[in-house]
Amino acid sequence: MRYISTRGSAPSLDFRQVTLAGLASDGGLYVPEAWPTLSQEAIAALAGKSYVETAVEVMAPFTAGVLDKAALRELAGQAYGRFAHDAVTPLKQLDHDQWLLELFHGPTLAFKDVALQFLGLLFERFLSDSPEHLTIVGATSGDTGSAAIDALAGRDHVDVFMLHPAGRVSDVQRRQMTTVLAPNIHNIAIEGSFDDAQALVKAMFNTPDFAGRFRLSAVNSINWARLMAQVVYYFYAAVRLGAPGKPIAFSVPTGNFGDVFAGYVAARMGLPIAKLVVATNVNDILHRALSAGDYSIGTVTPTPSPSMDIQVSSNFERLLFDLGGRNGPAMAEQMAGFEASKAMRLTNAQREGAAALFTSDRVDLDDMAMTMRWACEHAGEVIDPHTAIGLAAARRVDCGEVPVVTLATAHPAKFTDAVERSTGVRPTLPGRVGDLFDREERYVTLPATFDAVTGYIAERATPRG
Ligand SMILES: *Cc1c(COP(=O)(O)O)cnc(C)c1O
Repeated sequence: MRYISTRGSAPSLDFRQVTLAGLASDGGLYVPEAWPTLSQEAIAALAGKSYVETAVEVMAPFTAGVLDKAALRELAGQAYGRFAHDAVTPLKQLDHDQWLLELFHGPTLAFKDVALQFLGLLFERFLSDSPEHLTIVGATSGDTGSAAIDALAGRDHVDVFMLHPAGRVSDVQRRQMTTVLAPNIHNIAIEGSFDDAQALVKAMFNTPDFAGRFRLSAVNSINWARLMAQVVYYFYAAVRLGAPGKPIAFSVPTGNFGDVFAGYVAARMGLPIAKLVVATNVNDILHRALSAGDYSIGTVTPTPSPSMDIQVSSNFERLLFDLGGRNGPAMAEQMAGFEASKAMRLTNAQREGAAALFTSDRVDLDDMAMTMRWACEHAGEVIDPHTAIGLAAARRVDCGEVPVVTLATAHPAKFTDAVERSTGVRPTLPGRVGDLFDREERYVTLPATFDAVTGYIAERATPRG
């Protein structure tokens, strides 16, 4: 399998190269050259298979030529062996046709673990027999940082520099990052906002002087391997609810469009998905794009679902590329226009293609709180604010007579205050992270300037060989 850039001018790569690269050199995102498909018989044969065996079958076409099924089985077994539930991503029934797919049983209590535990092992395997050394730089509003740090702590050949906005992540989120004391993990609290931290990271990638000295890489969802790992749970859940014989709908609390794009990939591979519901909070750029063709940046409003408080959804470009006939130069032009004017219109082909599978909904604070209470009172389930946004949309949007699965993206104990405010129930941290508040923390606080941050990193990172 080869991977090509959405903007048409970066070289094509194999699975190993695409995993280590992150962003394409032409500014685009990598996608498979063609979508592999699983036959109806192959999907039917997933019935009863474990999560790890499902992962092997779903991922093998994407890693062909680089990792065989035996290698995938070993990696997936190791990654998902760290999850606290034997089913890895268990399903829960809420009423006649509403279901939750719990994706938060990994070490840091959010769905990001599903992909990052696997990605951490891929990095280690791909770098183990090479002199290369990766310098991961990232900005996090909470969940990505903790999941990446847990997955990469103590691994050879990788240093992680994770920037978070000082004082603007929850205590649980900060401690999940700063209590990891492995020498290859470097937490930097930036005196500024998440956008300031993100801008610093972008500037590092775009400054040849700095980027040239280190082999920089990314762990956010622009990394193809992350999306690939997320395709697995769509198959795992749908097969349990009757696929391929019966279609299933999914509702996905969405920010950067990575998780729901993995659902799109599952559909392209042949999984009978009736609808993909893109659920946003009041930061609704994707709802405006999918319902009215208007993809334009507004201002970010902070909400109790911070992992969905975004302006630009990077992975949306992958969908637009695929729906627009996979025309790299046209995509490059459309994105250049967007970067210049902070707005773009979807083409007719993009709008019609999206409408065939996607629908969207915008969920405000009241609807979110009401849905948390509904889940508590009617199904005895305490859910987190992100999941509540997905479930509110799932209950409101007409998906036809099919089971609707909401992706439960975070454990409620990660967002205790918001959950308690809406439901009166204060969720407790699961035993595996219960001593989080007794552990020692380590991080530095730096001003939000390029020189301060790059100076700190340059003193500690390993230069290119
Ligand atoms: C990251 C995250 C999301 C958004 O996922 P995307 O792939 O960015 O759309 C939703 N909920 C939680 C809890 C998250 O951490």
